[in-house]
Amino acid sequence: MKYFIGNWKMFGIPKSINILKRINTFCSKDKNRNKYKAIVTPPYTLLETYSNYFKTKHLTIGSQNCYQKDKFSSNTAAVSPYMLKSVGVKYTLIGHSDNRSEGDTDDILKEKVKLALKNNLKVVFCIGENKTQKKNKTTFNILKRQLTKVLEKKLNKNNIIVAYEPIWSIGSGKIPSSDDLEKTIIHIKNSLKKIFRKKSPAVLYGGSVDGNNVKIFKKITQIDGFLIGGASKSSKKFIDIIKNYYR
Ligand code: PEP
Repeated sequence: MKYFIGNWKMFGIPKSINILKRINTFCSKDKNRNKYKAIVTPPYTLLETYSNYFKTKHLTIGSQNCYQKDKFSSNTAAVSPYMLKSVGVKYTLIGHSDNRSEGDTDDILKEKVKLALKNNLKVVFCIGENKTQKKNKTTFNILKRQLTKVLEKKLNKNNIIVAYEPIWSIGSGKIPSSDDLEKTIIHIKNSLKKIFRKKSPAVLYGGSVDGNNVKIFKKITQIDGFLIGGASKSSKKFIDIIKNYYR
């Protein structure tokens, strides 16, 4: 199974649902539809309406983050995995570099993953090195540390997906070389096999993915799908990525 996951970030108002309706129409008729899952993560404000609308449709709705406390708490503006689940959300991103840079430590992320899984959300756990770490050739150590500090054997690996997103690639138009990317995905999968003692969860790539470069990425068969930021805000661009992947 491949995954095409759109991250809308701070984008979208109620009528933006039309973008997702077009994506859903394409996916539900696509001859390759059983080979992949299309998921989009709009902002919190839209989750309930969108989840209700797509409940019985091909497209699935996820959230971009969740708070590290269970059920209800006195943290202003926080939304717990329990609250997300209550409005029909199925997936949540955790550990996006935007949130890491705003203070999400490994300990916080560990709690988020634990609570999301407890509330039956599927977790898309994001990891990635920054420009300096890449330059200093510490990428492999960084990624391994990000994985081992948060994930552990007792977690349900069937509900975990890992998204490798080099920070320097997000929104920059820059992508890793095929050789580097293949080696990195293999390194991540090997680290995950060590954590979970057997099979690795799915590993996605994210960072400036578009309808053109997806043709390069599809040659790297170890990649199980994509986390797509900018291009997911346009139905045409998102659909082009799926179309060109299977062309
Ligand atoms: C992201 O922010 O998760 C992302 C991958 O963004 P973009 O596709 O725009 O690089």
